[in-house]
This record gives sequence, structure tokens and C-alpha cells, in this order.
Amino acid sequence: MPAYTLPPVHGSSDQGTNPGSFANAPDVGGPLTFSSPDTPGMPAPSTKTAWDFLPVGWRRDPKTGHATAPAGFEPVTQLEHGRLGHITPEMRRVAEREGHVTPEQVRDEIAAGRLVIPANTVHRAGRLDPMGIGRALHTKVNANMGASPISSATDEEVEKLRWAERWYADTVMDLSTGGDLDATREAIIANAQVPIGTVPIYSMIIGRRIEDLDEVMILEGLEHQAKQGVDYMTVHAGVLQEHLGFVQRRLIGIVSRGGSLLAKWMIHHGKQNPMYTLWDDICEVLRRYDVTFSIGDGLRPGGLADATDTAQLAELETLGELTERAWRHGVQVMVEGPGHVPFDQVEYNMKLQRRLCHGAPFYVLGPLVTDIFPGYDHITSAIGATSAAYHGAAMLCYVTPKEHLGLPKREDVKQGCIAYRIAAHAADVALGIPGSRDRDDELTKARAALNWEKHFELSMDPDTARAFHDEDLDVDTDFCAMCGHDWCSVRISKEITQFLSGKEGSYAWDKPALSAALTAEQQAILEKRGVLSPEEIHRLASKTREHMGAAPGAKAGCHSDVASDEEAERLQSR
Ligand code: SF4
Repeated sequence: MPAYTLPPVHGSSDQGTNPGSFANAPDVGGPLTFSSPDTPGMPAPSTKTAWDFLPVGWRRDPKTGHATAPAGFEPVTQLEHGRLGHITPEMRRVAEREGHVTPEQVRDEIAAGRLVIPANTVHRAGRLDPMGIGRALHTKVNANMGASPISSATDEEVEKLRWAERWYADTVMDLSTGGDLDATREAIIANAQVPIGTVPIYSMIIGRRIEDLDEVMILEGLEHQAKQGVDYMTVHAGVLQEHLGFVQRRLIGIVSRGGSLLAKWMIHHGKQNPMYTLWDDICEVLRRYDVTFSIGDGLRPGGLADATDTAQLAELETLGELTERAWRHGVQVMVEGPGHVPFDQVEYNMKLQRRLCHGAPFYVLGPLVTDIFPGYDHITSAIGATSAAYHGAAMLCYVTPKEHLGLPKREDVKQGCIAYRIAAHAADVALGIPGSRDRDDELTKARAALNWEKHFELSMDPDTARAFHDEDLDVDTDFCAMCGHDWCSVRISKEITQFLSGKEGSYAWDKPALSAALTAEQQAILEKRGVLSPEEIHRLASKTREHMGAAPGAKAGCHSDVASDEEAERLQSR
């Protein structure tokens, strides 16, 4: 008998646990949606939703649950349609892509402000394939890219966009600060199937000092990008004059580009942040094209020591106020979050945002959980991102190995996307999003069957998995080069199963089932592992492959899952 009895977990069975066994029970339509249990001391969800912040003249019909707008009102945004009870083609598409929610649920989550579909009316008419961001859906991943003044060009950025889409980015942000910003943005939107986000203040200060920025330039700059088809925009309206004093105690001050620029503007003019004072006008511009807000966290911490400090939390409170005001204008909202946060503080950060911003989707950068691994920040941040996604984030902004060091190139984009897809998927499984573990279970079955082809096919990066396998041993055997034949626990397990099940009548313990696929030559390869050069390994392994009868480029037929017993015996006895 086990000395310790597991606490009750929902959804567990004799076969093991189900996805989300230790998470809260799903609550789509309620404030929890898919959520982690609270560690003691965590803020409870807000009792309010976007329904509490209807525009003037709107009212909610308690019978239908939908809203009515003043006569003559024409809805534009997904939020307005959702409030009125409409199901748009974009809502249908999101439900279809997710698989576990209905179009009605998507509509209702949008109306509650817990879900956004960033789909500018202009981009919608182009190549955009609508997707949703919210806690009722799978966790999403954003990839940042953009030309800098010293590196990269428009063609390269479009190429990086395709590359990010190939590696599972759900949205892409064009953060260009150099080259022809307008042309790059236009080319990216024209080619993108995923929503495109920007930080419009970057292009507003090209060719001028931040101090010279005025209200007209801000509104014109936003309108211009909205007209181009940008799906969501980061606006750093939450950094207020009142917050700047808190920053002096920090180790690294303000690390957000937008935040630092606007702080400089406020100090120079002795006035409040213009993005804040213009907020209602900005909302009207974004509403016209259904651009979603990504309300920027200009005071996000830039190091562990500055995490969860007064500056960050004071700004978060303002982000809650801005969320409420944007909802009153019918604009969809997500809120941006940190940054650099020690692992133990991640949950609190997620749950505080959920309360102060009434469940508006949280879009976080990492967070990095340590500062001492430059060059590996896709890993340090993916650890924080996994925790963030489990505890409340709806979208994760990737970090590449180049973070803090240089502009990401193609391979860095891939590494960032993969690290973050792992983080998002791990959280989805832990949260119990239906179907999220199916592919893992299929791959486990393929692994147990030592079915390498299926193993590669189910891998998220099949080429890399195949290359790593084939580097040591490119013949399809009942083991791999990690442990070798005699130590392959999976092969031994398979033998035990065959023995116990009686499937193989002739099987007996005294007849060792040594695979003849392990030729003397192959044995030599394995013994010299770590000594031979990769080229030499390939040369020898390829010879082995030929020996097993595989045509160049084709699969060897000695595997027990693909060859009949007779055929396997014939091949192996050559
Ligand atoms: S040799 Fe080791 S790593 Fe490879 S399949 Fe067998 S148990 Fe797994």
C-alpha cells in the first residue's frame, strides 16, 4: 500500500490523470474560465465584467442577456456585435479553430470583455485568418520582429513573418524602428495570415524628437496605422506623471521604449501623459477600424529587483481604469504585463491583473525568472511564461536568445517561437483545455511502440527530431542510440508486454529477443559515440541503412511495426 494517499483530483481515472486534474474545474462563461487553484493570499477575480461598462445610452435586456443600442447605431467592433448578441464570421472561425468552444461561447466571452479577436476591418478583407485571445481559449504566442536602424530590411521582415507563422506564432508584432517603416508595415500586413500588432509611438518620432510630439501627430499617427490594417496597438497610456517618482528607487528604471519616451515627454513639458489625456479620442480612432487595444505597461520591471514594485502596481491600477473607459467606447481590450518577475511572484501578478482589469486578456512578455543568462533568455522567460499562462495570461510574447543582446535573426525567431509554444502548450494541458493532451498521448503511444516514423510525424519539429535520431543511428530499429539495444527500457517493456499478454506464443524468457538489426558495424558506431565525427557517423550509419535494405531517402523496413515478423526476420538475418 502506498504510504501517501493522493488528494482527490477531478477527472482522474485508473489509467492516470486527465488534463487539468489539479486545476480548477472549467468555468467557461464565469470569471474563472480555465484557471489554477489560488495559492493563499491571491486576489479573487473581479466581480465586474465589460457588461458593467456599457456605452452611454446602451442597456442590457435581463431576459435575453443581450444589449440594445440607441436607435440608428451601427456596430463595428467584435465587442459591439457580441454585446448585441450577434455571431460574426470571425467568432465562428475562432470557435472552429479552437474546437472546444461554440460560437455562442466565443460571443459571450467577447461581450464579457474576457476574449478579443484582433481583426482590423481592413486586414479582415485581406489574408487574415481570425483568431481569439482569452482564458477560455488555448494560450496564444506572439512573435516580435521589426527592422532596427542598424539591421534588417523589408524583405527580411516579411521572410521572418513567414518563418514565425511556420513555427506556430499566433500573432506577430512589427516593432520596426528603422528602414522604411511604412513600407515594412504595409508589406507585413499584406502577407500576414496572423493578426499584426504595432507600437505606433515608434513611427511617430521618426525624424523628430519625442519632445516635439503633439496631440495632432498622435491621433494622425494612430489613424494612419489603423487605416493600413494594424490589428492591435500598444498604447502606453498608463504611465502617469504621478508614477515617475516611484521609478527612482529602481535598479534599472524604465525599460519599455514607449514608457521611457513618454516619461521624457512628461518631464520636458511638465504635463500629463498625452496618451492618457487623449484616451477617449484614441478609443474613437481604434473603434472605427476595430483595432484592439494592447494597453502597454510602460513601467514593467526590467530586472528581478524591480518586480511587483510600487511603480508597476500603480500603473496596473491605471490600466484597469483605461480598460473600463475603452469598453465604454466599444473597443476590445487586452492588457500588457511584465517583464522580469521572480518565479514566486508570477501567480500574484497574474491574479492581480485579473482583478484590476476585470478579466481582460493579459498579454505578458515572458516573464524572465532570472537575469543572469543572457543568450538563453528564451529559456529563462519560457519558465516564467509557463507559470504565467497557468495562472492567468492569455497570450505570451516570446523572447528570443538574442534578448538584451541584438536583433533576432531567423534562427532566433524559431528558437523563441518553439520555447513559447512549449510554455503555452504545457499550461493548456495543466489547465485542462479539452483535447490539449491528445497529441501528447498519441506521441507517447508511438514512442512505446518504438514507431519512429509516427514519433517524428507527431513531433512539433519533425525535422529536428529526425535529424537528432539519425545523427547516431539512421536505421529504424527497436531502440535508439541514447541507451542502445540492451539498455532500451522501452524495448524491454515491449518484450514484457508480449510475454505477459501471450500474444507471441513462442516467446520465452530463455530465448533472448536480441534484434539482429544491431549489426557488428552498428555496434561499433554506438561504442564510438562521442569519438567519431558526425560525418563519420553518418557514413557508417548510412552503410547500415543500406544493409537493412532501405533505398536512399526511404525508410528501412526492419521495424517491428512496419514489417511482418517474417519480413523482419528475413531482413535481420542478412
Ligand atoms: S534506447 Fe533509450 S531513449 Fe532510445 S527508445 Fe530505448 S529507452 Fe528510449
